[in-house]
Amino acid sequence: MKLYNTLTKKVEDFVPYEEGKVKLYTCGPTVYHYAHIGNIRNYIGHDFLDKTLRYLGYNVTRAMNITDVGHLTSDSDSGEDKMEVARKREHKSSMEIAKFYTKAFFDDFKLVNCRVPEIVSPATENIEMYIKMISRLLDNGYAYISGGNVYFDISKVKDYYVLTNHQENELVVGAREGVDEDNNKKNQADFALWFTTSKFEHHELLWDSPWGKGYPGWHIECSGISIKYLGEHLDIHGGGVDNIFPHHTNEIAQSEAYLGHKWCNYWFHNEHLLDQEGKMSKSKGAILTVTTLKEKGYDPLSFRFMCLNSHYRKQLVFSYEALDQAENTLKKLRKKVNSIKNEGDIDKDKFNLYKEKFIAEISDDLNMANALTILYDLLKDDSVNGSTKIALIKSYDEVFSLDLLKEENAVDVDFVNYINNKIEERKESKKNKDYELADQIRNELLEKGVKLIDSKEGTTYEIIKN
Ligand code: AMP
Ligand code: ZN
Repeated sequence: MKLYNTLTKKVEDFVPYEEGKVKLYTCGPTVYHYAHIGNIRNYIGHDFLDKTLRYLGYNVTRAMNITDVGHLTSDSDSGEDKMEVARKREHKSSMEIAKFYTKAFFDDFKLVNCRVPEIVSPATENIEMYIKMISRLLDNGYAYISGGNVYFDISKVKDYYVLTNHQENELVVGAREGVDEDNNKKNQADFALWFTTSKFEHHELLWDSPWGKGYPGWHIECSGISIKYLGEHLDIHGGGVDNIFPHHTNEIAQSEAYLGHKWCNYWFHNEHLLDQEGKMSKSKGAILTVTTLKEKGYDPLSFRFMCLNSHYRKQLVFSYEALDQAENTLKKLRKKVNSIKNEGDIDKDKFNLYKEKFIAEISDDLNMANALTILYDLLKDDSVNGSTKIALIKSYDEVFSLDLLKEENAVDVDFVNYINNKIEERKESKKNKDYELADQIRNELLEKGVKLIDSKEGTTYEIIKN
């Protein structure tokens, strides 16, 4: 398999530490708010990676953290813990907030058919591991205590900026927009491993440590969870491109300083999903979630399909027009697949030929769009019988995860519920003489191919397009 490696800036042959086995780590969500569809695009990219590795026969162990403490509003140790921001916003405890948004995250994650990693660990459940790591970093001279906090000393590592190709080296962290200077730091690019109350007096979650009551920094969480559950040699570590600096840069520095040897060989980064104003972000206005798309009547897998068509290393701009197009194409594709008659014996040669073609594309740095072209070629190929086609589509869908064999005309219970709710909502609005809203609901349904029929007995509907 060939994979782009941010560490070397090249597409490389993937060779795991141990033959046939892959240790994969994905940076998880910060659960202070809903995950927007940009976050979910990132996890869909990781899901293609995870499933491709499995499809190729690797024995994959994957871990993901849940950030429920320590991620400040700026990635560079300034501002407030994001969980504290949510606590004030919602007047609930940090743990209540974390529980609520973790569930919401996995609901959406599953709606787009992402496989839940075998290891999912909240940051707050691994405090002992961070204390162990930080203690060793202090003993080895890689860390220092200042103003009550523990900091990592970046001047002690040889190649701190290796992941960013030294571009960040030019920037003085303290002078960057939105980053306050921290006078406790020897070098403004040093980063916090452990915060004590000296920095944030009213922080809700605090643990005892050799350096006083406090809480861990964000970066140590991912290193700690990864090393604790996946061991000292990691094959692939991934996140969104915004994680390259400072998060992953800091993870490399502290993990290798702690272990005393190279840690992770391949770094995998997904490009962002943008909206009309730029990068989608949780702190920016209304959050568009997968659940919202579903409530609007979309099949969440249309969003997955939209992501599949664009390479994970390219930015993708979200629009409802693009989503409508993806939804129509996916529906047509499913219809086509379901029109295939399951006839004849499976032709092993054809099966292997088309499987090889598919493998060639997915193992070319996850070229999912080209893999989809192989599916279209297969559908058109009259020399392949129905049973062989169906067996191949089933096999491709282990990676695509688009429910390709789901019958498009089968009654979609969610969609029917959605229509009935809308009819109810329209009835209410008419009762309240809000005819504008009633018309709006009628038009919204019409756009989805549902025509309302009003009569004395009430309102019924007709599906006019699929
Ligand atoms: P967060 O919950 O903010 O920690 O983010 C979870 C993951 O989503 C991180 O790995 C980010 O890099 C990624 N991410 C954040 N914003 C976007 C976006 N607009 N598009 C794609 N990925 C994103
Ligand atoms: Zn992380």
